[in-house]
Amino acid sequence: MAAPYRELIQNIRLAFPQPTSDRIHDSYLVHSFMNALNQVDALKMHLPMLGAVVEPNYEAARHAGLPSDMSSVEEVTSELVGYLRGMTVVGHPRTQQNVICPPTIPSVIGVLLAALHNPNLGWDEHSRLFALAEVEAAGITAGLVGYDQEQAAGLFTFGGTGTSLYGIRIGLEKACPGSLRRGLSEEAVLFVADTGHYCAYSIAGWIGMGSDQVVSIPTTPENEIDLRLLEEAARKALKEGKKIAAFIATMGSTDAFGVDDLRAIVALRDALVEEFDLPYRPHVHADAVIGWAWSVFNDYDFEKNELGFRPRTLRALAGACRQIRHLPLADSVGVDFHKTGFTPYISSLILVKDYKDLRLLKRDRELMPYLYHFGEYKPGMYTLETSRSGAGPMAALANYQLLGVQGIRALIGHLVEMAQLLREHLEGHEGAIVLNRDNFGPVTLFRVYPPGKEVLTTFTNRRKEFTDPACRDAMLAYNDYNRKVSAYVHKEAMAGRGVLLSLTDCYRHTTYGEPVVAMKSYIMSPFVDEESVEIIVEKVLEAREQLRKEAAADKNQKMLHWFA
Ligand SMILES: *Cc1c(COP(=O)(O)O)cnc(C)c1O
Repeated sequence: MAAPYRELIQNIRLAFPQPTSDRIHDSYLVHSFMNALNQVDALKMHLPMLGAVVEPNYEAARHAGLPSDMSSVEEVTSELVGYLRGMTVVGHPRTQQNVICPPTIPSVIGVLLAALHNPNLGWDEHSRLFALAEVEAAGITAGLVGYDQEQAAGLFTFGGTGTSLYGIRIGLEKACPGSLRRGLSEEAVLFVADTGHYCAYSIAGWIGMGSDQVVSIPTTPENEIDLRLLEEAARKALKEGKKIAAFIATMGSTDAFGVDDLRAIVALRDALVEEFDLPYRPHVHADAVIGWAWSVFNDYDFEKNELGFRPRTLRALAGACRQIRHLPLADSVGVDFHKTGFTPYISSLILVKDYKDLRLLKRDRELMPYLYHFGEYKPGMYTLETSRSGAGPMAALANYQLLGVQGIRALIGHLVEMAQLLREHLEGHEGAIVLNRDNFGPVTLFRVYPPGKEVLTTFTNRRKEFTDPACRDAMLAYNDYNRKVSAYVHKEAMAGRGVLLSLTDCYRHTTYGEPVVAMKSYIMSPFVDEESVEIIVEKVLEAREQLRKEAAADKNQKMLHWFA
C-alpha cells in the first residue's frame, strides 16, 4: 500500500500547472481562472465597488491559524475571491480618487505568464528571454524619454520609491566615493521640492544619510520648485562643507501634477560644479514616475493636432511637455508603469543616462559565490534586490506593444481632456475654484466655498486667503468646510450617486504655514466620459445646499461662521 502522503501528493500535483503538455489539465487550469473571474464578475454592480464594503476584522485576522487539511483549488478560489468584496473598481468612470490605474488585458497576461513560469531577473540563467524583455522595455523607455540608447541602461525595481532609491544611492556614491563599502563619514544632503514625494525622506533614512538631511525647498504657486531658494540652499550646504547626494526634480507631483524646471536645475548644478570646483558632479534624479508618459507628445505636432484634441487640452498637453521634454538632461529617471502606464503593481523602472553609473553600485564578486557563473546578463551584481520578478517588464512591454505612441497619446490625452472639462465646469460656477490651474495633468484640486462666500473665488481674494495671515481663521474654517463637502460627496458616491473623489489634507501650505485642504479628482480610467465629470459639479452644489440647511438648523450655530 502506498504511503498516505503519496495520496496527498496526487492531489497536490493536480493543483500545479503540468510540467509537460496535458491538454485536459490545461483546460482545467483555464477553467480555474475562469471560475475565479466569474465569481468576481458576480460581485460587479453599477457602483464603483465590488459589492458592499466589508468591515475587516483585524483582531480575528491576527489570530488566524493554518488549516490542518488540504482544500481544493475550487474552495481556495472562492475564499480568495471573497477578499475582493468591497474593493474599489479602479477602472470605473466614477472612480477618480488617486493615481491608481486600471491595468490592460495584455499587461495582466504579461504578469500571468511571469507568475506561471517564475523567472528571476537577477540573472539570465534564471530568466532567459524575460531578461531580454527587461532590456527591451528599458530600451524603449530610454528612447521615448530621449536618452541615447547606446549609453542608457535600466532596471525594474520595487516601485517608484525604489527608482528614487537607486538615483539617490548612485548620487551618494558619486558625492562620497566608497561609502557603499565603508559607510558614510560625511554629511550629505539632498534637495527636493516640498510638493515632491515623501519617499525622499524614507530613502535618506534607510541609506543612513538621515532623513534630516533632506532639504525641502518651497514651491511657487505653480507647484514648481523655487529655483532661487534651491540655489540658496545648495550654496549654503556647499559652503558648510556638505556633500550633495542629489537634486531631485519632481516631474509630475503626486497631488497636483506640479512639474519642476529640470533644465534650470541641471544648469544650477553645472554652475555650482564650476564655481565650487567640486571633485564630483552632483547627481540630478528626475522623479518622473507620473510625468514620463507625457514624453509621447515630445514630437506631437500640436499645430496639426491629428488626434483632434480640444484647444484647451492641447494647451495642457503642450504645457506639460515643455518641461517633460528635458528629461534627457537628468542623470537618472524614475518611471512607474503602474501609475501612468496602465499595468498592475509593481512595474517601476529606473533608467540611468550612463550605464557606467550602475557600476558604482556593484558588489564584490566574492560576496556572491553561488551565482553568476554563466550567462551574459547579470543585473543581480548591482541591484539591491536579490530575487526580482519578471512581471514588471512583461507588463510594461505588453502595453508598449498594445498601445504604441498613438495609443498612449490617445489615452493620456483623453484623461487630460476630461480633467480640463471638469475644470471648465468647476470654473463656470462661482462656488468653486481650481487650485492647480497651472498644472496640466489628469488631476484637479479644487476648493468649495459656501453660498455668500463667492467673493473668495475671485483671483485677488483667492490669493489673499493663502497669503494673508489675517485670513488664517477663515482659511482653516474653509478647510473644515471642504472636509464636510467631501464627506457628503463620498457618502453619495458610495450610494451610487456621484463620483468617488478624494481629499488631500495638505495640497500645499499657505505662505503663513497652514495646510490647504483640497478636494481631488484624479482621472485615470479610459471609461471616464462627460457625464461622470458633470455629475461632480452637481454633487458639490448639492453638498453646499445641504450644509447650508444644516447650518441654518444648527441651534449652537457652530457652523454659521462659514456663512457670516
Ligand atoms: C507615487 C510616487 C512615488 C512613489 O512611487 P511608488 O511606486 O508608490 O513607490 C514617488 N514619487 C512620486 C512623484 C509619486 O507620485
